[in-house]
Amino acid sequence: MKTRLFLFDIDGTLIASGGAGEKALTLAIKERFGANDSLEGIEIAGRTDTGIARRIFERYGVEPNTENLTGFLDCYLRHLETRLPATKGGVLPGILQLLEELKKRPAVAVALLTGNIRAGAKLKLTHYGVWHFFEFGAFADDHHDRNRLGKFAQDRARETHGAPFAPDQIFVLGDTPHDIDCGKAFGAKTVAIATGRYSVEELRAHRPDFLFQDLSNVADVLSTLGL
Ligand SMILES: [Mg+2]
Repeated sequence: MKTRLFLFDIDGTLIASGGAGEKALTLAIKERFGANDSLEGIEIAGRTDTGIARRIFERYGVEPNTENLTGFLDCYLRHLETRLPATKGGVLPGILQLLEELKKRPAVAVALLTGNIRAGAKLKLTHYGVWHFFEFGAFADDHHDRNRLGKFAQDRARETHGAPFAPDQIFVLGDTPHDIDCGKAFGAKTVAIATGRYSVEELRAHRPDFLFQDLSNVADVLSTLGL
């Protein structure tokens, strides 16, 4: 029986996509709205794709209805698929070994909690060869507010394993203050990793339960997390 659930963020936590996601967004804006947009003033890291699309729509006076959001995100996905192989990125330090170790432990379930839409998450993680590690996920398709995603992850965990996971048996791993807030929002343990845009000091200010510079020392990470 699974008693612990690890929920991973994607960008800056599992992988660095070398800006492929942001490039795909700017290409989608160019295609849909005819504008050259640097995305300045639009927060990307730790936000959801659907939340980011809504901010972009505000800028261009576009109604955030389902048809417009779907059209824009489909366009983003097409560009993401071509940008990923054209951009230098990779799996972050220790991630591959950590995922392999977690999968060996019968009590541990491994899944995603990410601001990516599901199709974008699949494109990115398939490109970097790690999609198969994850049993299920909560995605930006579920809600545009990241702090609401924990409930979707908990529901899917219960559906997949037939029993709920207690919030204090759930670890939310991410690289931004938004990941920490999102984990705290449903009482999970929060694990912050400074492999994205935020430093250890910046993340510490948001009081995660665990904090790592990176996950390269897998044995230390596992023992720190009580595994
Ligand atoms: Mg991230």
